Amino acid sequence: MTDTIFGKIINGEIPAERLYEDEHCIAINDINPQAPVHALVIPKTCIARLVDAQPDDQALLGHLLLAAGKVADKLGVADAFRLIINNGAGAGQTVFHLHLHIMAGKPLAEGDM
Ligand code: IMP
Repeated sequence: MTDTIFGKIINGEIPAERLYEDEHCIAINDINPQAPVHALVIPKTCIARLVDAQPDDQALLGHLLLAAGKVADKLGVADAFRLIINNGAGAGQTVFHLHLHIMAGKPLAEGDM
């Protein structure tokens, strides 16, 4: 379950600057940013979609949220950022390796982004 582009980045097969890394996840800049700040937090373990997460993944899911906060802080946007998870192709998911989008740097009114 590591044959997505994110699996290859995690394995080092495809280079990507790591904004953050710990034993459970990495963060990288999105290659096609939809906001001035657009980073991705990606677990090193591949869960295809959020709905595929299991009870055993509870700690990892919490870890990803905490990591997202750290990344937002590191990127200087801790006071105003949005987290997005696209679940399923119908919701716009294109890479089937769970990831959190961190988006910031422009006004975040309801309905934006
Ligand atoms: P999704 O649409 O929620 O699955 O988000 C996938 C995201 O991955 C999109 O915003 C893409 O721009 C981004 N992406 C795809 N390939 C790469 C890459 O090689 N490096 C960084 N971001 C990527």
